[in-house]
Amino acid sequence: MAIFAANSPDNGVLNLDWQGVRQGDPLSPALFILAEEYLLRGLQHLHNQHPEIAYHSGCSVKVPALGFADDVLIFTSGSKSALSKVIGFLEHYQLISGQVINREKSYWVISSKASPTRCSIVQKATEKIRWKLQSWGSNFLSFGGRITLLQSVLTTLPIYFLQVMPMPAAVYNKIETIFNKFLWDGLGWCKWSKVCAPYAEGGLNMRSLSDIHQAFMQKSWMRMREGNCLWSKFMLSKYCKTHHPRLAPVHTSHSRVWKNLHKVRDEAESKLHWQLGQGLCDFWVDSWLEIGPLSLTNVISRDHLDMVRETYVDIGSPDKVIWKSSADGQYKFKSAYEEVRQQRQESALFSVIWHQNIPKKMSFLAWRLLNGWLPVDEMMTKKGISLASKCACCAQEETIKHVFFTNPIAQQLWSHFARLLSKRSNNIHSIHQVLRSWSLSVSVAGHIKQVTPIVILWALWEARNKAKHMAIPYSFARIRGRIMTLLVMNSKLQN
Ligand SMILES: [Zn+2]
Repeated sequence: MAIFAANSPDNGVLNLDWQGVRQGDPLSPALFILAEEYLLRGLQHLHNQHPEIAYHSGCSVKVPALGFADDVLIFTSGSKSALSKVIGFLEHYQLISGQVINREKSYWVISSKASPTRCSIVQKATEKIRWKLQSWGSNFLSFGGRITLLQSVLTTLPIYFLQVMPMPAAVYNKIETIFNKFLWDGLGWCKWSKVCAPYAEGGLNMRSLSDIHQAFMQKSWMRMREGNCLWSKFMLSKYCKTHHPRLAPVHTSHSRVWKNLHKVRDEAESKLHWQLGQGLCDFWVDSWLEIGPLSLTNVISRDHLDMVRETYVDIGSPDKVIWKSSADGQYKFKSAYEEVRQQRQESALFSVIWHQNIPKKMSFLAWRLLNGWLPVDEMMTKKGISLASKCACCAQEETIKHVFFTNPIAQQLWSHFARLLSKRSNNIHSIHQVLRSWSLSVSVAGHIKQVTPIVILWALWEARNKAKHMAIPYSFARIRGRIMTLLVMNSKLQN
């Protein structure tokens, strides 16, 4: 059994009650660092004197304590004598530093089985995301606003957790379900995985959590291979021991962190390159030649030997791990993510609707239209929700084609704007067709011919909703006026 004292952000193990220095005094950070240094070194010394009190992690690197700003984690074995030695030292520390341990804010954890703690952290993370999204109230935001918010949540909130703590797939699914519900606010038209792709590939520029996680695990793998930090030394000595990290085994009893690292091992290794210095990296297994590890090469040819001779060696400095695909050799999340995710075919139709000159809500409508994901009666019936189908402009069945293209007023609008833009207008019947013949006919991005069809579609949808839900008359003049206003507003935004 082992015990470690831990604390959460609102539970400081050490409460900084400085005597004689006011909070905010410029001296206090310096004093704090001095005091913490003494505390951590003191604990290290205590462990050196009494090796039997160490926390047994199954690793030869013993970690007596870790400090995170003003929080301190102390690791020790759970025996009575170990605890009294640690407490004895802490009392000594209080006496000479003038700091006081706040017992109410400190707590200890028995961690022979840490899973309950783990579950509660995961729970907290999920709740935090749910709360954050709920506090924005999806029904008060347009789809455009929701996309922007989700993109920002995705780039901030879970990232911290994904970096430090690998989670089971079920947790990712749970969080992504929350995202998807928020996006659609009610009736969901597609799975979350569908929107996890760049705009040009038909997605909504969202990122998949498990892909983000994969990319971050590759970063961790690289950090571990560098071998510079305490964490890296700990992992190498605990899981690799006499093995090369590339060849070290994984057992069911190993930690989730190691198992996850192990999963990305081959992928991550293929992105690393060793710049030779002292030459302590492995001749056979590490990739220090362009062709990759020599152990994977069946025949060593004369070319290979030349390559070896021509390899630059910076004798005196340590071997250095390089992230191959970045210019400065540092890990780059973006490139790692791009290589992890499953790429889809790009489509010019999708690229053109998401141009930055077009308001997001309009782009989103066009995107839904390209996928056929709109709650017109025709689509609702397909989803099994039967309605007495009736169009807002006439009494016909309400289909996507009718609402946007073939109803008499829509037809009138398309030919009116076709004349203005000197386009042929005969028989426009789908978004694919109008985007191809209007938007993709000009190469200037954000050109009026690219924007206009998307604005017309938006105005038609707006008018349909107003007629259906607010009984506002559906007329050519009203919709035409609205399109003109939107186009003027849009061009003003651009200038
Ligand atoms: Zn109609």
